[in-house]
Amino acid sequence: MANGAKISATVITGFLGAGKTTLVRHLLENAGGRRIALIINEFGDVGIDGGLLRGCGEELCRDEDIVELANGCICCTVADDFLPTMTKLIERDHAPDHIVIETSGLALPQPLVKAFGWPEIRARVTVDGVVAVVDAAAVAEGRFAADEGAIDAQRRADDSLDHESPLHELFEDQLISADMVLLNKADLVDAPSLARIEADLKKEVRPGVRFVHAENGRIDANILLGLAAAAEDDLEHRKSHHELEGEEEHDHDDFESFVVALGLQNDRKALLARIAATIRDHDILRLKGFVALDGADARLVVQAVGPRLSAYFDRPWAGGEERTSSLVVIGEKGLDSAAITARLAG
Ligand SMILES: [Zn+2]
Repeated sequence: MANGAKISATVITGFLGAGKTTLVRHLLENAGGRRIALIINEFGDVGIDGGLLRGCGEELCRDEDIVELANGCICCTVADDFLPTMTKLIERDHAPDHIVIETSGLALPQPLVKAFGWPEIRARVTVDGVVAVVDAAAVAEGRFAADEGAIDAQRRADDSLDHESPLHELFEDQLISADMVLLNKADLVDAPSLARIEADLKKEVRPGVRFVHAENGRIDANILLGLAAAAEDDLEHRKSHHELEGEEEHDHDDFESFVVALGLQNDRKALLARIAATIRDHDILRLKGFVALDGADARLVVQAVGPRLSAYFDRPWAGGEERTSSLVVIGEKGLDSAAITARLAG
């Protein structure tokens, strides 16, 4: 089955206080027509996140779309809590378009992503992306979170927790599993510190994983959702640490996108290689669109986030439909659209 037919799931990691709940609330309020279901792994200060979200009063935050897993760490209770909850959500009459999973931050992301490989889940859901939310203000001061004591209390409150990883290891796990890193509370940190944090954290993520900045979790839902990372197929790469990457400058917090129109393409492999090279060289956050291939009766959907690129045929061309190729390029302001367009055209 093509990825397009599966429900996408986004896993949001990050410690207590990093701003996950504000981010999720912002996503729900700016879902752009997506029906988002939310699984919150809340324990310790039980129910606070769920209460905040239920209070949003929007039609998009329907109670039935918000599930709280309050019985302990989501990765330790995968079989008892997480899988049955997922099954219930996807078997509903009105299944959600997108499932967002907010972990407590104590959870190990890898076993959670692995759970998406279970046959009954895998057939219906794909991990669209793992987003690590980082408290930039805390990290700038050499800590992992604004209140590390609260995280320890959260840990003690969970009897089911069967891993005792120190915070720095959990933090590394969150980063190595991430398809995108959100530096939250960026407004509380000066530009040189933010650049230093980003350069440091880049040593912990997989090569090419993008960093975005936000205040109060305010970020375009189109940047976070729809990453098409299929993380469940890519577990191996989330273990290998310390691939260094060239430092990149992010002077602007705003995003822009533009469309590159390409004609009929005759070499799928060469085109995908060109796209991958363009993303690498131009600091593109995401790229998506469809391609008309010479000799193919279906259109090729192309989706890329950071270093990962996927391509599949989604539907046949309709009779009389013009066979053209169109790619949307998304990045932070300042993209060199002329150079990118020329490069993609080959
Ligand atoms: Zn766990």
